[in-house]
Amino acid sequence: MLKTAFTVKKNQRGALTRELLVIIFKVSLIIFVAEFIVMVGLDAASISHSYVRDILDALLLVCIASPVLYLLIVKPYIQSTQSAHENAAALKDSEEQLRLVLEGAELGFWDWNILSGEVKRNERWANMLGYTYEEIQNSTQQWTDFIHPEDRQAAWQSIDDVIAGRSLAHKIEYRMLHKDGSILWILDQAKVMKRDESGKPTRMSGTHNDITARKKIEEVISESSLRFNRILDNLFTYVALLDTNGVVQEVNRAPLDRAGYRREDVIGQYFYDAPWWTYDDQVRNQLIDAIRDANHGIASRYDVVVKMGKDFVPLDFLIGPVYDDSGKIVGLLPTAVDITARKNLEVELQRQAHLDHLTGLPNRRSFMDKSEVELSRAQRYDNTLSILMLDIDHFKQINDTYGHQAGDIVLKSLAMTFQEVLRNVDIIGRLGGEEFAAVLAETGIEKATEVAERLREVIASGEVELSEGNTINYTVSIGITTLIDRNSNIDVLLHEADKALYRAKQSGRNRVCT
Ligand code: GH3
Ligand code: MG
Ligand code: MG
Repeated sequence: MLKTAFTVKKNQRGALTRELLVIIFKVSLIIFVAEFIVMVGLDAASISHSYVRDILDALLLVCIASPVLYLLIVKPYIQSTQSAHENAAALKDSEEQLRLVLEGAELGFWDWNILSGEVKRNERWANMLGYTYEEIQNSTQQWTDFIHPEDRQAAWQSIDDVIAGRSLAHKIEYRMLHKDGSILWILDQAKVMKRDESGKPTRMSGTHNDITARKKIEEVISESSLRFNRILDNLFTYVALLDTNGVVQEVNRAPLDRAGYRREDVIGQYFYDAPWWTYDDQVRNQLIDAIRDANHGIASRYDVVVKMGKDFVPLDFLIGPVYDDSGKIVGLLPTAVDITARKNLEVELQRQAHLDHLTGLPNRRSFMDKSEVELSRAQRYDNTLSILMLDIDHFKQINDTYGHQAGDIVLKSLAMTFQEVLRNVDIIGRLGGEEFAAVLAETGIEKATEVAERLREVIASGEVELSEGNTINYTVSIGITTLIDRNSNIDVLLHEADKALYRAKQSGRNRVCT
């Protein structure tokens, strides 16, 4: 609007100047013609000089000189006042526009004359801090006073850096004190607007942007993520977060500490390239497959052994996708629990399930399984194999006389003697009560009888020490059978041995029968 009004005025002035020049030209021409006629007329009348001619000369001079004067003095003067008007109007115009923009953007504005120290600010600058425009003074000192004491030095440092030419622009976030005592976060951005001939800044202008809300959100986020990280780091569960390519974004402390790895060894790397997995191609490939599946929305859970420093640690490992609100997979979440204790327990339970608690010998179930394997081997290679069955004589009496605990001691002692006399390759088991059996691999009936006889003798001649220094003697009866029928099974052989044992009992005990 302002600009249009100004353009109209400018055009009017141009037309006026042109008209004035035409008038001056016309007047000069008339005077010139008049003088010519007078000159010719006076000459004819033989009048050499006259009063009239002097007047006409003077008029002509004025007429000729006036356009020259106009061009040399008047026009430049008009032009200079015109452009001063124009500049003033344009400046006023652009300042108005700037004011509107700044107010629209809710920006505080400051304009600092560095030489005089005077600072101009807009109303928003004052309102932001809870003051009216009239309440703020135009000095830098007041700005300093409004800044949070802890941030003053940094804010001034930033300004000084620009003035000294160490940085191109002033851009800094700091806290300011509101009139009501609260704290505002301000983003202050400024540039040098004017310099003197030597390049020294003389004027600097900038804006204040209230970023308190953004800072609050940032604080909440960083606080909650800090809290979340603290929880993660205190979990004994191993947790990581991968992007969809399988690159590690986050990992908690537990798996790092356990393995002695640093966070930076793992963050930003492909998860499957981390040292936990790379010791074994199969382990690594299994993980690569699981990552691919997770990217297709399929979670995988499996037990895996990973390398933790020098140790190999069994894990219950799970990896699945992480979805955003729209259901898109945005990451992968591997978690794992150290199952060393569980695995050890499993092994122990397995061991115990196959052992007789009292004697530590394989129990009936385990003895039967092992014997089955040994029998198949003997049948496959056409080897001989013998079975002994052993029963303590009058064991009931031992229990009755010395007590059940004494009976247990005798059973343990027998188990030890059994192991001492037989070879490591022989399979020994407690079938139940005071009944024991042994499978002697690659042993024919004669050799088996020898072994059984030696065992019987060692037991019969030995003494078992009971708790209070008392000792007791006992004897055993042994039945033997050997593999003859190639299609026989372990039950049949045991039954045969049992029959031989029965014969040994029948024929007086403390003896070996086949
Ligand atoms: P025989 O010479 O005919 O074999 O006579 P026996 O007394 O040994 O025969 P019997 O089978 O009648 O007795 C077995 C006894 O073994 C009965 C039972 O109380 C005892 N017994 C079974 N298991 C255990 C055990 O674990 N500890 C103890 N102390 N005794 C047991
Ligand atoms: Mg018995
Ligand atoms: Mg017995």
